[in-house]
Amino acid sequence: MFWRIFLYLAFQSVGGFSGWFFARNVAPGNALVGLLVGMVAAGLAWFLVDAVRGVKLLRWLRMGDATTPAMSGGLWGEVADRTRRQLKSRERQTQASDERLQDFLAALQASPNGVTLLDAQAHIEWFNQTAASHFGFETQRDVLQHFGNLVRDPGFAAYFSARDFRRDVTMPGRADTPTRPVKLSVQLHPYSDGKMLLLSRDVTALEQADAMRRDFVANVSHEIRTPLTVLAGFVETLQTLALDEHERHRYLDLMAQQSSRMQTLVSDLLTLSRLEGSPPVGATEWVPVHLLMQQVAQEVHALTEHLSQTSGQPHVIEFDEFEGTELAGAHSELLSAMANLAGNAVRYTPAGGTIHVSWRMLPEGRGEFSVQDTGSGIAAEHIPRLTERFYRVDSSRSRDTGGTGLGLAIVKHVAQRHGAELKIESTPGKGSTFSLVFPPARVKAIDPAL
Ligand code: ADP
Repeated sequence: MFWRIFLYLAFQSVGGFSGWFFARNVAPGNALVGLLVGMVAAGLAWFLVDAVRGVKLLRWLRMGDATTPAMSGGLWGEVADRTRRQLKSRERQTQASDERLQDFLAALQASPNGVTLLDAQAHIEWFNQTAASHFGFETQRDVLQHFGNLVRDPGFAAYFSARDFRRDVTMPGRADTPTRPVKLSVQLHPYSDGKMLLLSRDVTALEQADAMRRDFVANVSHEIRTPLTVLAGFVETLQTLALDEHERHRYLDLMAQQSSRMQTLVSDLLTLSRLEGSPPVGATEWVPVHLLMQQVAQEVHALTEHLSQTSGQPHVIEFDEFEGTELAGAHSELLSAMANLAGNAVRYTPAGGTIHVSWRMLPEGRGEFSVQDTGSGIAAEHIPRLTERFYRVDSSRSRDTGGTGLGLAIVKHVAQRHGAELKIESTPGKGSTFSLVFPPARVKAIDPAL
């Protein structure tokens, strides 16, 4: 400021002196007028120079370029310099908060959950990729759209209008179809000034697992309740009626049948849960295939004998020769899977039918165990579901022959634990072939020298 006053006074002095000096030489009587005119002219010149510098500063401010200095020196120079420094520091702050915002958005983008930001009127402000795939949003098209116009699920609409956001709501996702359901869990979290954060999570697998668990519990209860009801009825009959010896025996036989049915069911359930809960089977224990076949044959013969007591005519059972190969895995599990397949072939083949059990080496060192029958066969639409627990094509035949509906589920688990593949081929009315194909790492030829 001092410099400014000094400069002004200097202009005035130089102007006044020049006016006085000029007037004194031209018209000595008018020296005072010359002094005044000189001072006014100097004032005007000072004002002009000052205005030019002010305009220059204004122009520079309008461009807002903080990198080049507008001018130096004087009051305007200092104003320009301070403004430039402030602009620079603001620019740095803006850049830093921009970077923070980008980091923050990148973190939200990486979230496995869908994140959608809504303003107070529920217009979409931002969403991440996961939310885009959950709801089928497109950035260009859907930002600033009302969320309710894009997501029209009635359950969500009711949740939104009830304004109780303490819980989540489950709704179908954009890709939901009757054959491939997609379920989303959606929850709104209000934050500053009525804005809302909408979190969405794909819960399809959870919902399916929950439905499977519910079905499983219902199925097990049903399977146990039936023989229990029958047993309770027989007990009551024995308690209330005076039966002769023959009748008593008949009832006790029927009761034994029901309790053995329950025992089989519980034992299959335990087998399944053991298979699901134990670690994968290593390839350290080698079991000779011919030993497995002998044991399968014993079980199959026991079953055919039992069944032929009721049907009269026995099945024809054929076993190939199996010398020379070993399988790596858990002996009891392999036996249980193979015996299950052979047992099913007997149970679903009418009396007198043929069951052929074989083992053969496939290309690349794989080994295939297969059971072929001439039984009822299975329609193609049932085949993908046969390994589901309690899935039965022919329920009455399954129960009549002592089936629990868990046999193929056990086979599938054993196969998975041994890296094997369960293959099912069937022609209704002609018969079926169930095969287990083992990988080369689990199959080896027995050294004849040993
Ligand atoms: P189950 O104890 O009922 O036999 P499984 O899991 O072993 O249960 O088999 C599931 C269903 O698959 C059976 O109920 C039956 O309908 C069908 N099935 C299995 N093996 C055969 C077969 N060899 N021939 C025809 N149907 C079969």
